[in-house]
Amino acid sequence: MNIRFWGTRGSIPAPGKDTIIYGGNTTCLEMDLNNGKKLIIDAGTGIRSLGREFESRKEDVDIHLLITHIHWDHVFGFPFFSPIYNSSTRILVDGYNSCMKGLGYSFDNKMGDGFFPVRFEELKADIQFIDKLSHGYLEIDDTIIDSSPIHHPQGGLGFRFREHNKTLVFLTDNELDVKEKSFSDFVSFCQGADILIHDSHYRPEEISDHRGWGHSDYQSALDLALRANVKKLVLFHHAPERKDSDVREITTFCQEVLKKKNSDLEIEAARENSVLVL
Ligand SMILES: [Zn+2]
Ligand SMILES: [Zn+2]
Repeated sequence: MNIRFWGTRGSIPAPGKDTIIYGGNTTCLEMDLNNGKKLIIDAGTGIRSLGREFESRKEDVDIHLLITHIHWDHVFGFPFFSPIYNSSTRILVDGYNSCMKGLGYSFDNKMGDGFFPVRFEELKADIQFIDKLSHGYLEIDDTIIDSSPIHHPQGGLGFRFREHNKTLVFLTDNELDVKEKSFSDFVSFCQGADILIHDSHYRPEEISDHRGWGHSDYQSALDLALRANVKKLVLFHHAPERKDSDVREITTFCQEVLKKKNSDLEIEAARENSVLVL
């Protein structure tokens, strides 16, 4: 599978001269499975550019859209995803149980007129909620996807993709605490993954003031990857105030820690428009 990052930023878009390398758009990933099927994770602001890319390819859009949870940084790009205004588009939605509510909110917020000029029912695309992941697993030909609850206010899901003998785990907006039982559950969920993409919103020195906010520091993400024998860790959901130079410095620091431990674990930071090949 190929994974392309269209948005890597946490909480709110952060465009500007300090976020050119790692990007300012919020969560959106495009996955091309080996069986030819296409899957999108989350509809943060990165999905707008992905929609334009689809337009330029002039292909019918027939995708699965998985939503981790409905905090606005993960859904508020959806009204600007241009394929939803095209009748040839088919979107099968799955993920957290409230995901259709989150995707529809900008259109039908019932708080009066004036938020957005289109109603959800006016969208031309065929958009269906298939609701497999809350109850078990989702199978797309020979790719198996299952989920884990994330440790995050108001809940949500992380996803694990298995394609032949390759495994990718996506866990964002997930607060790790090595002292809690949930940490060992996450170790089991990530065990042996080829790639783990994990929330690393905070620095270790920031986490004590943000316990309960539902995000991890990069050291905890590193601990998880080491404990679970992951091959590559990708730091994700960069804090909006994190400059490119900060992300680079964090990544270099982690690489040095791993070198001292003689670990084979590879580490990098998610970068908008970059592609992972698995
Ligand atoms: Zn988020
Ligand atoms: Zn969130």
